[in-house]
Amino acid sequence: MVSPDPSSFEICSIGGNLATNAGGLCCVRYGVTDDYVLGMQVVLADGPAVRLGGTTVKNVAGYDLSSLFVGSEGTLGVITEATLRLRPAPPASAVIVGSFGSLGDAGRAVAAVMAAERPAALELMDQAALNAVEDAAPMGLDRTAAALLLASSDAGGGEADRIGRHFQDSGATYVARSTDPDEGAMLMAARRMAIPCVERRGTVLIEDVGVSLPRIPELLARIQHTAQARETSIPVIGHAGDGNFHPLVTYDDADPDATDRARAAFDDVMHAALELGGTITGEHGVGMLKSHLLQAQLGDDVMELNRRIKAALDPHDILNPGKWV
Ligand SMILES: Cc1cc2nc3c(=O)[nH]c(=O)nc-3n(C[C@H](O)[C@H](O)[C@H](O)COP(=O)(O)OP(=O)(O)OC[C@H]3O[C@@H](n4cnc5c(N)ncnc54)[C@H](O)[C@@H]3O)c2cc1C
Repeated sequence: MVSPDPSSFEICSIGGNLATNAGGLCCVRYGVTDDYVLGMQVVLADGPAVRLGGTTVKNVAGYDLSSLFVGSEGTLGVITEATLRLRPAPPASAVIVGSFGSLGDAGRAVAAVMAAERPAALELMDQAALNAVEDAAPMGLDRTAAALLLASSDAGGGEADRIGRHFQDSGATYVARSTDPDEGAMLMAARRMAIPCVERRGTVLIEDVGVSLPRIPELLARIQHTAQARETSIPVIGHAGDGNFHPLVTYDDADPDATDRARAAFDDVMHAALELGGTITGEHGVGMLKSHLLQAQLGDDVMELNRRIKAALDPHDILNPGKWV
């Protein structure tokens, strides 16, 4: 069994977390970063530090400017303080695992669960991703499954059983439920380890596409098609309950042809998400890698509105110059 090397852990600052409006596994029930921001101090491009929002839970005085800065990727100001909501630690959760013979069945199971329940997390690993984990850290995952769904439920009231039944009714070939915290943590660890395990196989371009829940099966089919057409391995993991997936475009960066195919596959997946009415980024942000596709998602009018906001707050383009706006 391989454990993640603690020395390889990276840090995430609160400013960076706010600036990317970061998410993660438990957003299905608990929301994203922006849901926890009450107020902040921001240093503007022309020098002054302003306080936005406040300390109250409800506050509708003026425009919601702190939300404008959340997710702005450092292009509008520098966040130097934040006032965040605290909430009680969630209760212990049960973990429900479902193996599926097809990605379509797994996608339909996600839609069925989310139509009726609010699990704390609902994660997907496809066959390539779960085999990458099994190769690096064998834990008895079903290598033959087309997809594995992992749900964690802390709502009580029989939710965990109902999620298991949704898995079964949607065609799961195997369903198991664990209330043992160690076993549950081990199963969720398998999902968390997927990216480092896939990275052992090559250089990885991490996608972050999102679609509405009913379109998940189509997105997964389009990713599989892209992997075949571009002859590039694309293991898929994702926050399935949010419709947010991280296809991991994996290639040998010493091979120029493989690198070109991987870059083309990366763009194909984002175009697929857009054609399905989705987004090129659910939580990682636009950055430099996806800036060429932002206009395709937003359209000319909204892109121009973004530019006007940028010009009003940073007319000399000194904050993350040249970034997506
Ligand atoms: C392998 C990997 C996995 C990831 N997994 C997830 C995930 O599961 N969920 C998720 O949501 N995200 C994920 N991310 C992206 C993640 O959102 C960001 O990497 C992280 O939250 C940003 O925090 P940071 O401190 O690393 O910021 P940085 O990477 O340093 O900066 C990120 C952006 O924020 C800006 N910024 C930083 N600090 C401030 C500040 N004080 N004020 C204004 N702007 C600022 C920077 O200019 C930059 O544009 C992942 C990234 C990687 C590389």
